Amino acid sequence: MNLRNILLASTCAAIAGPAIADVNIYTTRQPELIQPVMDAFTAETGIGVNLSFVDDGIVERLRAEGTRSPADLVMTVDIANLMQIVDAGVVQPVESDVLTSAIPAELRSDDNLWFGLTTRARVVYASKERVADGEVTTYEDLADERWAGRICSRSGLNNYNLALLSAVIAHKGEDGAREWAAGLRENLARRPEGNDRAQVRAIWAGECDISLTNTYYMGQMVNDPEQQAWAESVRIIFPTFEDGGTHVNVSGVAMTTSAPNRDEALQLMEFLVSPAAQQIYAETNYEYPVLEGAALSDLVASWGEFTPDDVDLNELASHRPASVRIMEEGNFDGYSRR
Ligand code: FE
Repeated sequence: MNLRNILLASTCAAIAGPAIADVNIYTTRQPELIQPVMDAFTAETGIGVNLSFVDDGIVERLRAEGTRSPADLVMTVDIANLMQIVDAGVVQPVESDVLTSAIPAELRSDDNLWFGLTTRARVVYASKERVADGEVTTYEDLADERWAGRICSRSGLNNYNLALLSAVIAHKGEDGAREWAAGLRENLARRPEGNDRAQVRAIWAGECDISLTNTYYMGQMVNDPEQQAWAESVRIIFPTFEDGGTHVNVSGVAMTTSAPNRDEALQLMEFLVSPAAQQIYAETNYEYPVLEGAALSDLVASWGEFTPDDVDLNELASHRPASVRIMEEGNFDGYSRR
């Protein structure tokens, strides 16, 4: 084929070839946190992305829409939400060497049904004034009586705390986890209430000295004029398990069973683990990239380095029912200080 024919052939393909479809995403994440990385994808590939923000009930919506669903991908946070989608049977496996080589095995589904894109650590926020350096270094410490009346926590049945307790089970077994949860409960300064940031506000207000809070909330508080003072009253400590690292969870992506635009959706999934996309996505959300070597934002890097726990999230998910049982039987949320 001479040059003229090649040009002709490619021109014809561009005109007559199938139109490039947009990728449709259902997401529980705030659209403004996702838009920058999608804009980068569109700039690189010419493929558009439509984001539908679904606050609650993604599973119900996908089930109701069935094979007619316009959604190609679901993006959400926390292993519990990812497993809910998997268990409902509304997602399909995706075979991709790009995804499996970029994402560590402990941060994606054994069956290729979901893929972690960023991680967040569940760490200790400690009062700069009332907690000394080195005073808390392990999750086990939090159950020690020297913390009596000094810890603030949100509900024990919140996904973030259930995942942490599942990690405790992975390290210490169910009996060890029950004991740990009971010790933590004994150390609470008040009945569990509010979200992660409300615990930091309570430290700022002097109600308690430490809380369990996800890392990215520091970024959100620093950038919110009303919450800056809360952020400034604490520092982040990365506790580890005595025989492990710091507990992490993921934000992730999965492909729907119906996925009308499968090829484009796969292209987007693979783009999301590229170095450039990993940096943009992690930075906008104050999270950690899953891709080794991808750059951290300066703010996130300023919190210090840590070793993530290597408990597999697939295992973590399997301990969730036991975690719910322990929190309920121990009446974690019913605590009141005597
Ligand atoms: Fe959160």
